[in-house]
Amino acid sequence: MSASPGPSSPFLDETKALACVHCGLCLGSCPTYLETGNENDSPRGRIYLMRSIQAGRTPLAGQAVRHLDLCLGCRACETACPSGVEYGHLLEATRDHIERNFSRSTFQTFLRRVAIERVFPYPWRMQLALLPALLLKRLHFDSWLPKSIREMLALVPHDCSRAAIPEISPVDAGTTKCGRVGFISGCVMSVMFGRTHQSSVRLLNSSGFEVVTPRSQVCCGALYAHGGNLEQARANARINIELFERLQLDAVIINAAGCGSTLKDYGSLLSHDPAWAERARRFSALVKDLSEFLAAQPSDSSPVPARRDAQRHSPRVTFHDACHLAHAQRITKPPRDLIRGIAGRNFVELTEADLCCGSAGSYNLTEPEMAGRLQERKAKNIIHSGAEIVITTNPGCILQLQAGLTKAGAHHIRVMHIADYLAEAMSSEE
Ligand code: SF4
Ligand code: SF4
Repeated sequence: MSASPGPSSPFLDETKALACVHCGLCLGSCPTYLETGNENDSPRGRIYLMRSIQAGRTPLAGQAVRHLDLCLGCRACETACPSGVEYGHLLEATRDHIERNFSRSTFQTFLRRVAIERVFPYPWRMQLALLPALLLKRLHFDSWLPKSIREMLALVPHDCSRAAIPEISPVDAGTTKCGRVGFISGCVMSVMFGRTHQSSVRLLNSSGFEVVTPRSQVCCGALYAHGGNLEQARANARINIELFERLQLDAVIINAAGCGSTLKDYGSLLSHDPAWAERARRFSALVKDLSEFLAAQPSDSSPVPARRDAQRHSPRVTFHDACHLAHAQRITKPPRDLIRGIAGRNFVELTEADLCCGSAGSYNLTEPEMAGRLQERKAKNIIHSGAEIVITTNPGCILQLQAGLTKAGAHHIRVMHIADYLAEAMSSEE
């Protein structure tokens, strides 16, 4: 580990950092502060650290980096903040600075620069990397491995599905066409949640939308932006903007909350580039989370049947807010409206529904100890709700909740993506 001497070259927008008035109203929303009680693990403590590193008062070394690494990037502090502090942007700029100037251990460097940046964003590489993991699990050899590796393998589901979706999916026969939307296939989603993609496209087609899924799209850049590699995130954003703007679309649909927040942030990511700023803003304005888009459609065009709560065996359902939907995109009502439309009185609210589950992109790989504590906390709340199904909107959350509920012995609770829940309800009426 190395320390950087003296004041740093400016990486932080000081005006944005000074928007924090240290009121502390965000502390109760911050998962890491709730767990450690340490002010340095709170939003205002971290903003103070960021400014202190920039000013050269705190060296870029062990403890300071630890407190910043421990941040989930969940942005719950932004939702709670009355001063409108753009914490997510401050964190991304600081992480970019850390990755350029701080030497990590060999294991952390491999994990961040190779596994997360060179494998995850490429579906075929990821599929290859998953093969040994799936084999170890099937043969039950995982119990022989060290705990840290076992924890990682626990996240890999037994039933990864890479079901391909066509480049163009027309509206259903007999359905009036309402428009044409693009579809972001993503990285983790396309390798592990192929069936969820099929459900998503089916819901859109049944609602009257032709769906275009360009083959040459690339990772949205979220993994890079959150991991401290803003240049690569910007490069990917430019490729996607160029590709999708040629297609003359009414909207660009994403069913993964973490990717959605980055796609909606392209305008800000490229705001310093005059050649791209306006194009990026236009692209971001088209991006809609699947739940946000479906809930905004007129109810008479909805393919999903309403109110099954009268059915005797209708299961009790709850909802976990993915941080990047609830906090980064401020979307909480649309998914609940869609679920309530089916579950009716069998929908129950989850205690701490919008508190991070510990997944946070690749956080559960880089910070397994804190991720495990938050996973356990979430699993307890889900079990306490009495729900038989927990629904969410992000692949990372699904994997984290599944592993947490398995660890807690709650094998009877199903974790579902909202697209699968809605598509299943639609099938039951057909
Ligand atoms: S981030 Fe916002 S809520 Fe938190 S201490 Fe600063 S001003 Fe207050
Ligand atoms: S992003 Fe989440 S973990 Fe980080 S300071 Fe804000 S609330 Fe806390």
